[in-house]
Parts: sequence; C-alpha cells; structure tokens
Amino acid sequence: MLLGNLHGRSVALVDGELVDVCKATDGAIDSDPMAFADLATHDVLRESLGAKGGAEGALVPSSTELAPPIPRPTKILAAALNYRPHAAESGFEAPATPALFARLPSALAGPADDIVLPAGRDQIDWEAELVLVVGREARNIDPDQGWTYVAGLTAGQDVSDRRAQFEGPSQFTMAKSYDSFAPTGPYMATLDEFENVDAIRLSCVLNGDEVQRGNTQELIHDVGRLLAYASSICTLNPGDLIFTGTPAGVGWGMSPQRFLQPGDVLETVIPGIGTMRNHCVSG
Ligand code: ZN
Repeated sequence: MLLGNLHGRSVALVDGELVDVCKATDGAIDSDPMAFADLATHDVLRESLGAKGGAEGALVPSSTELAPPIPRPTKILAAALNYRPHAAESGFEAPATPALFARLPSALAGPADDIVLPAGRDQIDWEAELVLVVGREARNIDPDQGWTYVAGLTAGQDVSDRRAQFEGPSQFTMAKSYDSFAPTGPYMATLDEFENVDAIRLSCVLNGDEVQRGNTQELIHDVGRLLAYASSICTLNPGDLIFTGTPAGVGWGMSPQRFLQPGDVLETVIPGIGTMRNHCVSG
C-alpha cells in the first residue's frame, strides 16, 4: 500500500487515484494520517482498499499538495556515517555502533515543499535517505525482530548546514533541524511493496544530474541493528521516524565542494515509494 497525507487527511494511492481512507473504510480508519503508523490498522486498510479502491473516496490526484505522510512523530532519529563510501568522503571511520542523533520534528516538510535556505548560511548540503516509520512500541528489541516493528518506509532528505555541523563543538541536531530541512514522502510504502526490504535502491538528483546512488544492502548498521540500538536507549513509539543514513555523493565530499543554491531542484528517488521534488528558495 502507498499511504499519504493530503491536506492533513489520510489518503491511499489506489489504481492511480488518491482515495480518502476514512471515507473508503466507512470511518474504520481515522482521517488523521498518523493512523498509518499503527501496524494494527493495516489489515483493515488492506481489506477495505482492495475492495473499495477508486470508489466513493476517490479524489483528484494532486501529488504536489501532499504533506509529510507521517506528520507528527514524537521523535526523529538519524544515523550518521552508515554507508562506508560516505564515511570515507566525510573523512571519518565507519562507527562500530550506530551513530544516531536527533532531529527536531518541526523540520518536517512535504514531498513537494520548498527547502528554505537560511539567510547567510552558505554550506547547505543534501542527503537522500531511506526513512523507517515505527509501527508499534519498541523497547530493548532483538535485531532479528527489527522489521516486525516497521509500519512502512518513506524517502527523506537530511538537509544539513555543514558549517554548523562541523565548526565548533560538533553539533548535528540544530545543523539538521532548520524548518523545512526534513522533507519526507511522497508516500509511506508498506513493506509488501518491496521485493527485498534489505536491498532498496535510492538516489538523489540535483537539477537533473544524479549526485547520489545507493542501495540499502550497503548499510553498515542494518535496519534491525538501528532499531535495536535506538530502542536500547529510548522507547520508540508508533510514528517515530528513523533516517537510515546517506550514500556517498554529498556536496561536502565533492571537489570542489558544492552546496544548494536558490533555484536548485532536489529530487529524492526510491523505487517503490516514489519521487520527492523540492525546490530550494532563499530564506
Ligand atoms: Zn543523514
């Protein structure tokens, strides 16, 4: 299933049409897209959408109006240096345990929203990532059980102010938490949308040029280890987002270095989930 958020309402993409999920399920599923983060709703969703897709709840497709599929996570965690070539281009060793940091939920933006480049900041960089949506409460879980805690997957950008990140005391949270720095979408795809959830391709395209290409089978710490490690520290709640790290090809690692400019179009592509297309504007 491809599940999304249209103007704050839960929608599903069925046969090329966006369907209002609350109407299509006769109210069994809430109109709030946060309902998608509860794995317990998925059987009802599957039954109802299979039977009713494209019927009463059908809406005109308007993907540029989609909002973040999971709009209100209690927290966002993100893995630093989780692909070896990216660790190398950043000048760091691959970490022995997951290097997780927090991002503020207020940084979330939709899959077609503008990325606002803050005035006076000249090193704003891109990071295409696969994002996990936690589907049930997790505390001290076993890595082998990791996927059973995942409601679905979406695409995300971990937009980063490199100057703020690397100058002075190393600070990731604020450097990656400006408003609009965490676009996600266009949909949350359930796991059955993928042939192999441990080998998902992702790429980043800047003004038509592919700058990043990766596959999650290259992750240093895989989904099970990320979830197990995170849940050993804090309880994970349905709807929490975990950015799994970015492949090589960020602007910081280029020679000469390259950073986002007003007018740039940043695309994040994950087959099975879709394409986000965010325009960069000056703040
Ligand atoms: Zn990242």
